[in-house]
Amino acid sequence: MLQEAGRAGALLTIDLRALRANYRYLQGRLGKAACGAAVKADAYGLGAIPVSKALVDEGCRHLFVAQLEEAISLRAHIPHDVAIYVMHGSPVGYEAEFIEYGCTPVLNSLDQITAWRKLAQERQENLPAVIQIDTGMARMGLSQAELITWLNDFSITDGIDVRYAMSHLACAEDQLDPMNQMQLKGFQNLLAQLRQHYPGLKASFSNSSGIFLGTDFHFDLARPGAALYGVAPVAGQASPMHSVVQLQGRIIQTREIPMGASVGYSKTWRATQPSKIATVSVGYADGWLRSLSNCGVAHIAGVEVPMVGNVSMDTITLNVSHVDPQLLYPGALVDLICPNNTVDQVAKRAGTIGYEILTSLGPRYQRHYIDA
Ligand SMILES: *Cc1c(COP(=O)(O)O)cnc(C)c1O
Repeated sequence: MLQEAGRAGALLTIDLRALRANYRYLQGRLGKAACGAAVKADAYGLGAIPVSKALVDEGCRHLFVAQLEEAISLRAHIPHDVAIYVMHGSPVGYEAEFIEYGCTPVLNSLDQITAWRKLAQERQENLPAVIQIDTGMARMGLSQAELITWLNDFSITDGIDVRYAMSHLACAEDQLDPMNQMQLKGFQNLLAQLRQHYPGLKASFSNSSGIFLGTDFHFDLARPGAALYGVAPVAGQASPMHSVVQLQGRIIQTREIPMGASVGYSKTWRATQPSKIATVSVGYADGWLRSLSNCGVAHIAGVEVPMVGNVSMDTITLNVSHVDPQLLYPGALVDLICPNNTVDQVAKRAGTIGYEILTSLGPRYQRHYIDA
């Protein structure tokens, strides 16, 4: 059993075979449209380099990160025919680094467009970029006023090789939300106008959930993230995605407590009968959110056990009164994220979304990648 536990307090297993299967599934749904991948935030906490390499191996040619720093650290590991797009665009004054590192900015404002165009003029060459337009989310991209300025003066993008027009959906996981159709209509409408000047201009619209809204939402390039990593893409429906992440924490010790004893900081749980408590070395410093206090669960050999008491920085406590004592030795691994308790289920218990569970996965976990 020694090798099972290792030295680390918890084991995070990332199944790249499942990731690959998820990529193939999404690409299959997209048909002729290309399936890119959002690998921002260290591929949602799973490791941008191993994840991107596996995706590129499956045919992915478009990787999306949020920030230039992320693109720079990824670039050295990724073949140069694979585009790395920086969704926040260039930090002011750092445009030239995009050339140096072979990354493509997503331009989100007339200011970003102007700076990119200036660099193109200085270098006397066309420079590639994606241009993002806000169709209702009010977060990133050209505003409607900026769009109109551009439509009235296409010289604004002289010297810019506009690879894609892009927009982002605000409510795609809720298939019935009317905002989806509203944003789609808006995007189709602005594309029609842009294509009068840029015939055949390509478009990128959908995140993971958008892919499931139908072929109208696919355009030329999709940018899924969460679904690749096993998060359910459609609210209220069984997920077609494979689980990619498994998290196991290690039991440090167990103890018997009498009826009436409290467990953990602030005495938020009290035993109503003599109980057995197991302490596991995962805590909120590892991204096991404190909001899981008294409502999270773990599984031991398939048996669900409740987390009792508050989540501590380095530990959680489980009520294991009903578990076979032979399974409760120091070093034993208990399942925290597993097929019985998926990322989405953990998120629901914690009052958040799977995205936040994944991106919170901590640096103390011993990481193990499985691949073919
Ligand atoms: C994060 C992000 C994505 C990926 O979204 P998922 O919901 O994880 O598929 C796509 N596009 C933009 C602009 C994003 O910010």
